[in-house]
Amino acid sequence: MLGPVILAASRSDRMRRLISAAPVTKQVVDRFIPGESVDDIVPIIEELTGRGLELTMDVVGEDITTPGQAGAARDAYLALIDRLRELGLGERVEMSVKLSMFGQALEGGHELALGNVRPVVEAAAAIGTTVTLDAEDHTTLDSMFAIHEELRRDFPQTGCVIQAYLFRTEADARRLAAAGSRVRLVKGAYKEPAEVAYQQKSEIDKAYVRILRTLMDGEGYPMVGSHDPRLISIAQELARRAGRKPDEYEFQMLYGIRSDEHLRLAAEGHRMRVYTAYGTDWYGYFMRRLAEKPANLRFFLRSMVTKG
Ligand SMILES: Cc1cc2nc3c(=O)[nH]c(=O)nc-3n(C[C@H](O)[C@H](O)[C@H](O)COP(=O)(O)OP(=O)(O)OC[C@H]3O[C@@H](n4cnc5c(N)ncnc54)[C@H](O)[C@@H]3O)c2cc1C
Repeated sequence: MLGPVILAASRSDRMRRLISAAPVTKQVVDRFIPGESVDDIVPIIEELTGRGLELTMDVVGEDITTPGQAGAARDAYLALIDRLRELGLGERVEMSVKLSMFGQALEGGHELALGNVRPVVEAAAAIGTTVTLDAEDHTTLDSMFAIHEELRRDFPQTGCVIQAYLFRTEADARRLAAAGSRVRLVKGAYKEPAEVAYQQKSEIDKAYVRILRTLMDGEGYPMVGSHDPRLISIAQELARRAGRKPDEYEFQMLYGIRSDEHLRLAAEGHRMRVYTAYGTDWYGYFMRRLAEKPANLRFFLRSMVTKG
């Protein structure tokens, strides 16, 4: 019940001001968003790659309001890619981008976002890596899939995300399960109405398994984005039945969540990619992490009471 309330709060400017200014917030935020700048994040990237993990990097900041901010978001990714080139880590670290941050919700947003994301995809390809387009709320997805298709003409390895909670996703998965495609399947993190999305956890989990089967039986490269132990074992079983080798799919989890499991899966020989967010505009990302697990909110509120 708490999840939707927290997700609604994530759209409120008043809550944003209140939570951002709370004295203990930073310390709780650091668990999920371990840095604000490229300099902060480089040691984390080196540590995780040194432990046999791969990464996908998210520069947080979806709530932009001007084309100038969208351009700054593009430049932040380009600066990160430049640093990865210097470090020789291109092949271990890909990018995850939210098209909203590249201007998708502004006037002329589809073209603006495409114009901003293309140089990031080009720069990533030049250092031997790629970009995955994150899935945001359902109203943005037709534009996201169109941009994905457009980018794949020149950069076929560009990935995208699909969300098991949406009714549309089974059809999207059948379309995307083609040779060369890279698709991350997640449960879905936004507040979606009952007209477009399953609301019950059990229904979402069942949809996740059906969609994962389509991806594993298809010819693309499935990326299993979940921390759910049950879904992770099902994914292993579906991959085995589909005759996939360990380098023909991968697991992905978020930085700060079930970190022991990241290492366990990597030690078992799986490709394990950690989605690592950094940046200053962390509010939306942080609130979605609170909404996913009410215990996170209780911990946050308790720290405010004890330290505030
Ligand atoms: C790599 C990756 C990329 C993602 N990209 C997107 C995207 O582009 N669009 C989108 O809508 N969603 C995205 N998500 C979020 C996703 O939709 C879910 O909200 C999130 O993964 C929680 O679902 P779950 O599959 O882990 O299962 P759940 O049933 O929610 O969680 C399973 C277990 O994992 C642990 N856990 C899960 N979340 C948390 C948390 N926040 N804090 C502490 N423990 C937790 C708990 O132990 C929980 O019992 C992404 C998730 C991952 C892992």
